[in-house]
Amino acid sequence: MKEKLNKKERTSPLDLRKIREDFPILSRSVNKKPLVYADNAATTQKPKNVIHRLSEYYSDENANVHRGVHTLSECATEAFEESRQVIQRFLNARSTREIVFTRGTTEAINLVAQSYALKQLKAGEEIIISTLEHHSNIVPWQIACQKTGAKLRVAPVNDSGELIFEEYEKLVNKKTKLVALTHISNALGTVNPVQKLTKMAKEVGAVVLIDGAQSIIHAKIDVQAIGCDFYAFSGHKALGPTGIGVLYGREEVLEAMEPWQSGGDMIKTVSFEETTYNEIPYKFEAGTPNIAGAIGLSEAINYFSQFDLEKVEQHEHCLLDKAIERALVIPNLQLIGTAKKKSSICSFVVKGVHPNDLGTLLDQQGVAIRSGHHCAMPLMSRLKVPGTARASFAFYNSQEDVDKVFDAIEKALFILAA
Ligand code: PLP
Repeated sequence: MKEKLNKKERTSPLDLRKIREDFPILSRSVNKKPLVYADNAATTQKPKNVIHRLSEYYSDENANVHRGVHTLSECATEAFEESRQVIQRFLNARSTREIVFTRGTTEAINLVAQSYALKQLKAGEEIIISTLEHHSNIVPWQIACQKTGAKLRVAPVNDSGELIFEEYEKLVNKKTKLVALTHISNALGTVNPVQKLTKMAKEVGAVVLIDGAQSIIHAKIDVQAIGCDFYAFSGHKALGPTGIGVLYGREEVLEAMEPWQSGGDMIKTVSFEETTYNEIPYKFEAGTPNIAGAIGLSEAINYFSQFDLEKVEQHEHCLLDKAIERALVIPNLQLIGTAKKKSSICSFVVKGVHPNDLGTLLDQQGVAIRSGHHCAMPLMSRLKVPGTARASFAFYNSQEDVDKVFDAIEKALFILAA
């Protein structure tokens, strides 16, 4: 009866066979074994329509955007600006003026650090981040603090890898000018209650940036409901191309900010005596943008939007449950990151086994996972591990994939023990 119930619970609400056909790479082999791709937190695979759209753009529409009077330039500009609309609607931003194209999450955070933090922060004021952060959401603030004399405060996590709300609450005060927190931890999968954390920061008038690199296709994103001032994400972690990302910025905050890079497109007029800047979001998009990238990203978002997010979440939870169930019966395996609210990321260590050796042995079996510190060295130190092995699943992964990952782990451990 129990088995029947489990089986029933595990029936995916998604048509996985059909979905997987959309991702050509999933049917290739690696090291003569069918690929099992479980490194989605590093980057996601791309559906056919994104690949096709990139090729179509370069074959048929390629031209530089804005200012061109010829047909192709108008066509490229239209597609590029339509992409901005797609992203605006997806994030529920108020206007396309709030959508700045960047190279990715890292560049988006650096933009805010340089254009906002460096200009606004004074000595003695404070920036709050958390132990969960990716280096991209640590180092830009460290630099901003070094240059301004502001202080970096770090909200701690408990042994499960959950941000300790009471400790965060203690850190938030009148000196807090900026709060930068991840939505979902890339190393552990912990899901932060971003709305609640943002609300607390807004009560003291701080500006809030949410690092959405890991959440964009795993959680509902509504920047107005979250109440944040900035939301950053990367296209490549959301089924889109590399080299494109987005900074959502609340209009009033963006308006008040100075440009951070200068050159073409971000200007209105230039003379040797004086330069005036373009309006937002162009003020922050100096130089020729990644036009194909933006178009590819909107195609990815359109593709993903056809799915019911609740079903996606339900499916991914089942994958995580199964992964945890399989992990827990492996001798000497310790799960790292056991937050109550987690996305489909399973991080672990095995006593006496280097995560890289495990990763290599899995690769020989066609299984792609990631090993190392996941660009979260302070978090690894806090949890007293040098690194972890991490299997991260996306909605196109199947229960069978999870089984294959853990079958491969068992086989690898057997080899290492021999
Ligand atoms: N923040 C988080 C939580 C991430 O997982 C990553 C990438 O892994 C980044 C930031 C940086 O993203 P990118 O390298 O695409 O700029």
